[in-house]
Amino acid sequence: MACKCFKEIEEKMDARMRKHYGENAAEIDESSFANQVYLFEEGDFCNVMLPYLFRFYKRKKNGDLEQRLTNGDTKVAINYCPFCGTKFEGAAKEKESAH
Ligand SMILES: [Zn+2]
Repeated sequence: MACKCFKEIEEKMDARMRKHYGENAAEIDESSFANQVYLFEEGDFCNVMLPYLFRFYKRKKNGDLEQRLTNGDTKVAINYCPFCGTKFEGAAKEKESAH
């Protein structure tokens, strides 16, 4: 990672939330940024992605809209750290060929 902002802010947020809820948070199940993805490719990526909502109704053969909402939600990659502005360099191979 080009910067450690997400990790550092996650640690600060975790400490802040634990302090805020105190003993009411008897057992922490999860404490992290939402929308984290596991990346298997070598390189410098942001493992938190921005959620993008795309929900729609399909049309039935009789012309009416389906009652059921179809969820086409996806995620958008973050190319620059939103906290410090550092660029995530992307795939390791691309970085090498750029020189
Ligand atoms: Zn940063």
